[in-house]
Amino acid sequence: MRRGLLIVISGPSGVGKDTVIRRLLEMDPNLRYSVSGTTRKPRPGEKPDENYTFLTPAEFEALAAKGAFLEHASYNGNQYGTFRDRVERTRDAGRDMVLKIDVQGAEQVRKLMPDAILIFVVAPSEEELEHRQEKRGTESADELAARRSIALREMTHVGHYDHVVTNDDVERAAGEILELIRKARASQT
Ligand code: 5GP
Repeated sequence: MRRGLLIVISGPSGVGKDTVIRRLLEMDPNLRYSVSGTTRKPRPGEKPDENYTFLTPAEFEALAAKGAFLEHASYNGNQYGTFRDRVERTRDAGRDMVLKIDVQGAEQVRKLMPDAILIFVVAPSEEELEHRQEKRGTESADELAARRSIALREMTHVGHYDHVVTNDDVERAAGEILELIRKARASQT
């Protein structure tokens, strides 16, 4: 059986990664989403084990110590990590796994799994990104400012990615990513 692909999606906070990924998963039934572990508190409407597996810092630490994470990183004061067993099981079953992780995580994945497909999602403009960040309305002013400065730093990593996709329109951006995935599948066989 074909081993599932590993598709890494990064991009600045507020660019719309979640919406694009949701649409992508609807478009292709072979795709699975890697639910990460985090010490961040749930946002309103976020569901445990669907958006994230929410962990205490002690729980996260214990899992990291026993190697449960394929990669993990600290982002704006919270820990985030990809569960190794979830990724392995999915890929072994021939399903393509989508990871939504930050630039530090993507760099770890690139080293561990050079065949991973790294995609960076950008906004059509700086103004549009700020507008989307404010519109989300789930973060405090301090949190928003911190995420903006991280986003500027993250943009300097864009050259480490295989593809850059502009989220000017969710349907179009998800379609572009799906096309990249289909091409990678075709060159696997
Ligand atoms: P948020 O708090 O907005 O959900 O996520 C903050 C950042 O953490 C985003 O850039 C997101 O892609 C990243 N992130 C989410 N899960 C993981 C993970 O498992 N590993 C890493 N390295 N970053 C993650």
